Amino acid sequence: MAGLTLRIITPDRVVLDEVVDSVRVPASDGSMGIFPKHAGAVTTLDAGELRYAAAGGELSIFVSGGFAEVRGDTVRVLTSAGEAPTEIDEERAKAAEKRARERLAMTREDVKRDAVDTARARASLQRAMARIQMHSRHSS
Ligand code: ATP
Repeated sequence: MAGLTLRIITPDRVVLDEVVDSVRVPASDGSMGIFPKHAGAVTTLDAGELRYAAAGGELSIFVSGGFAEVRGDTVRVLTSAGEAPTEIDEERAKAAEKRARERLAMTREDVKRDAVDTARARASLQRAMARIQMHSRHSS
């Protein structure tokens, strides 16, 4: 069966470079399934779970947003961070969630005084929640 080459790249490393059967990415406008012979496409990603089917079954990688490009039978994902479920540090994600929630609970005056970037806190919360969810789904 024709396969898809899936490459997930961060500034630090190549998280994955494998031939797979299909990919599902957390596109910003909804989950997007990619099979061989898919039309070329570029989409932005939300922080969340990327799933792919390969000989070993269905596997997942956390991606922290970024872009996915489909060109021919190659899917390239450029993201600032990516982790397999077993690489996710749950305590770290919980600490990030707590920090983000505290920032988002601040009053307007506090936000101004502490120069809190609300959009950044919201994005951080989204990453933390996605990591926690993925970690718990894959550790049970
Ligand atoms: P933190 O505030 O804990 O740094 P973050 O969401 O801001 O979380 P990112 O900017 O997404 O972190 O990632 C920075 C680096 O740290 C990346 O290499 C990423 O893979 C790694 N990383 C971040 N959080 C975790 C985690 N909970 N488990 C494993 N690796 C993580």
